[in-house]
This record gives sequence, C-alpha cells and structure tokens, in this order.
Amino acid sequence: MNAEIIAVGTELTTGAKLDTNSQWLSLKLAEIGIPVIFHTTVADDMNAMLDVLTAARRRSDVVIVSGGLGPTYDDLTREAFAKLAGVELELHQPSLDFIRSFFASRKREMPERNAVQAHFPSGSRPIANPRGTAPGIWMELIRENAPTPCLFIAVPGVPSEMKRMYDHEILPRLPHGELVIRRRLINMFGVGESHAEELLGDITRRQRDPEVGITAHEGTISLRIVSQGSSATECDAKIEKTEQEIRRLMGHYIFGVENEELEDIVLPRLVERGQTLSTVEIGTGGLLAHRLTSLNSVFTKGPPSPVRGGTILIDTKLPGKSISAVQTVWNHHHDDALAIDDLTKKLAEACRADFETDFALAVAPFPQHDPDRDPLATPITYVALASNAQVQLQEIVLLGDPAIHKSRVAKTALNILRLVLR
Ligand code: ATP
Ligand code: MG
Repeated sequence: MNAEIIAVGTELTTGAKLDTNSQWLSLKLAEIGIPVIFHTTVADDMNAMLDVLTAARRRSDVVIVSGGLGPTYDDLTREAFAKLAGVELELHQPSLDFIRSFFASRKREMPERNAVQAHFPSGSRPIANPRGTAPGIWMELIRENAPTPCLFIAVPGVPSEMKRMYDHEILPRLPHGELVIRRRLINMFGVGESHAEELLGDITRRQRDPEVGITAHEGTISLRIVSQGSSATECDAKIEKTEQEIRRLMGHYIFGVENEELEDIVLPRLVERGQTLSTVEIGTGGLLAHRLTSLNSVFTKGPPSPVRGGTILIDTKLPGKSISAVQTVWNHHHDDALAIDDLTKKLAEACRADFETDFALAVAPFPQHDPDRDPLATPITYVALASNAQVQLQEIVLLGDPAIHKSRVAKTALNILRLVLR
C-alpha cells in the first residue's frame, strides 16, 4: 500500500505560501506504515486538478488532497472529485445544518454561497470538521488496474483544521500498512554537530536499526531515531534501547525531546524551585525575553511566570538621571568603555538587583563585523548568569551564518541557566 499527497492552491504553486501540509501528512502516514511515494502541488485549476487526480488514481492506493474545500469559486476540490468519479454533487442536509449553526454560534448569517460546502460527490461520505465550515470528503473509487479501490480523502487547507481532522476522523478509519514506522526526537545544546557525531560513535551509521539521523538548527542539535517494525510496541522497544544508549553517551548535552525548547525546560524548573529570573540584553534585542514569554506561559492558567521582567538596551547611553542599577552600569560603560566581558557581568548583577530575582541573564552587545570583508576575524560576544553565589560568564564566537547569531546566543544564555538548574 502506498500514498500520494496532493496540495491544492494557487498560493502554493506561485510560491506565496509554503506547502507544510504534505510534510506533516507524510510523517503521519509513515507512522502507520503507509509510505508516501508522490507529493504533488497543483493550482486552483480544474483541468490541472483532474490531470493530477487521474494520475493519482492510477498509481496510488490512498490519496489525500488538502485545500480547495472553501466556499469561494476558486475552491474546486469538491467538484474535481465529482468529475473524477463521473457523478453529481448531492446535498447532505446534516452538513448544511451544521454549517448554519456554525455561523449562528458566531452571530452571523450563513452566506448562501457556503451551502456548496454541504454538497458531496454522490457515493462519497462527509468527514466532520468541528473547527471550520468545510467538511472533508471520503470517497472510494474502483480502479481497472487494481483489485482494491483507490481511497480519495479531501481535507481543509487550513493546517489546524487539517491536523484535527486527520487525527480524529481519518486516522481511526485508515487501513494500516504492514511496516510500522515510529520516530523519536532528542534535542541537545552546547555541543557542535561534528563533536556530537564523534561522541555518538557508530550510532549514526547508516543502515543501523533503528536509524539515527543528526540535524542542526540554530545551535540545537537534534537526533532523530527512526524505527521500522511490524508493530508499534516492537518499534518503541528498539527506540527505547537506542535512546538509553544516546543518553549515556551525550549526558548533560541532552535537554529535551520532540518539540521541546530550552525555555520549556528552564521555566518549569524555576517554578518548581520557587525561583525567579530577569534578563538584560543588547545583542539579542529582546529575543531572550521573547523566548521566556512563550505562548504557553502567557496564556494558559498555571503558576505565575518565574520571569519578573527584562531590559533591552540599544547602542546609546540612556538619558536622564539613573533610576536603575542597569542604567548606571550602562552609562558608566559609555563614559569609561568597560571591557565587554566585565560589562556583561556587571549588567547581570545590576539586573538581578533591579528586579530582585534569584537569577539574571545578561547578553553583551554583538561586535560590528562583516564576514565578507574580514573573513579571518574572530567576533566575540558574552552572556552572563548572575545568581546569589556568583556570576558565570561564557564567551561566544559569532562565526557562521549571521542570520542565526541572535537565536544561538539567546539559547546559549538559557543553556547556562539550564545546567545550573539541573
Ligand atoms: P477555506 O475554507 O479557508 O477556503 P480551504 O480548504 O479551501 O479552506 P484553502 O483555501 O486552500 O483551503 O486554504 C486555506 C488556508 O490554508 C490558506 O491560508 C492557505 O494558505 C492555507 N493552506 C492551504 N494549503 C496549505 C498547505 N498545503 N500547507 C500550508 N498551508 C496551506
Ligand atoms: Mg479556500
């Protein structure tokens, strides 16, 4: 059994939007042992869509089409499915009732045009979509060249609606392949990619079972363990064994799994210990504070954030009388040009005093540096962590892609704190 994903939308083929649905769906299908053999992207154009759907019917067992289920004239997926099957669109009254009540709950009248979303190719079934007005479509078509029908599934283009529909409505009804694939992601910080490979020895060797791949993103190194087997239990057991081995070899470099970020580890640790944090940053321009005020900590009920606040400084001296310890240090630096490492430590201490926190993180200015002009220079910045015991300083060499300097430095600061909180 194999699958094909078709992403529909002129905004995708023109390059205005990136198709992320196909990537997500492919990972999901692999988990239940259905390999995806084609990704096709097609514009909102009936002929082009029919071309692609006809080819998919010939070559794939499961075809998932995302997008084009909206109520507007450029949304053609429903009609394309009907044309492919050679049938008419039929009204499905419960879907129409749902769409009407969906609008009513938002205190709006349903535009007549939305009624088309309650029409389905004759012989197909609607798939519920509680998050939006567009139900999905489940349609099975007989093929001349294969004994089993080809399964066509249409899902909304809006990623959150698509994902919910897949997890709740589609996955439970999909046939499973023979070979199950399971994955686990292990995230590390503070180790370079090549050093990590060295420490891991032959764990990253190709053809190993389970296979372990290594990727780097803005200083975070991730290990992806991919296991294939005849059941999820078998795969999970193999993954578990490899994960233990990796944990033994990489030790404290490992901070989390799956999509966990450094702040997801640091913030709960601070809450647990009843401790507080503040920040003062120059080079990172607020990115450190941004990470520490993630959506989860801001919008969900829970313990109050352990972060008391932060200060962002830009190149210039601050006007007026000094009202904070940070301002005093900063202006002193402008008058007497402190050494940058010394400045960073002093800022961390001053910030900790201003906000009366257990910890304070400081990020130094980034040096002016043009790698095209001066490829051999070694631009350096610093981050410091002040606590009641001491001030820890770390030097960071700003080489590599300048676009990721801020992110890497903000993470380095969080990582110093993570190691202290361990
Ligand atoms: P709607 O009812 O909103 O019209 P729809 O099912 O017709 O839903 P589209 O019109 O194709 O879906 O897209 C809706 C939104 O989802 C757009 O913002 C679009 O950019 C986004 N989207 C569509 N397809 C994809 C995709 N493959 N990957 C990521 N985003 C997508
Ligand atoms: Mg649309």
